[in-house]
Amino acid sequence: MYCEMCGTPIEKGYLIEVEGARLTVCERCAERGTVISSVKRKEGSRKETYANLVIGFGERIREGRKRKGYSLEELSKLVSIPPKVLKGMEEERIYPTIEQARKLEEVLEISIVEEEEYVPHKNDFTLTLGDVVRVR
Ligand SMILES: [Zn+2]
Repeated sequence: MYCEMCGTPIEKGYLIEVEGARLTVCERCAERGTVISSVKRKEGSRKETYANLVIGFGERIREGRKRKGYSLEELSKLVSIPPKVLKGMEEERIYPTIEQARKLEEVLEISIVEEEEYVPHKNDFTLTLGDVVRVR
């Protein structure tokens, strides 16, 4: 992922709004616009990264919310995410952090985070083992 303003490679991005455009930028460039995502530097050292979301996560959030009969305001209180941000997530304009996504999954009993993040270790091991077998 790269900062859409200065091109610096970034591990975590800030979704900001600048003159009506939404950009994912680095920490430094985030100060040039209004930060939309909930990533806040002031919250200290807590590391927040964006979740690896499934395609159509917004629809899943909306369906989950409707199934539970929650309004945006009600869900907002349960997951500690502002209604406006939740709406943006349902419209897939705003991407939840892993933490937020996990909370939404828990509260709405849905699945929106891909489990890929755990797979690489398994794959690495299998590949290494396969290579060893092939070489010898
Ligand atoms: Zn930047």
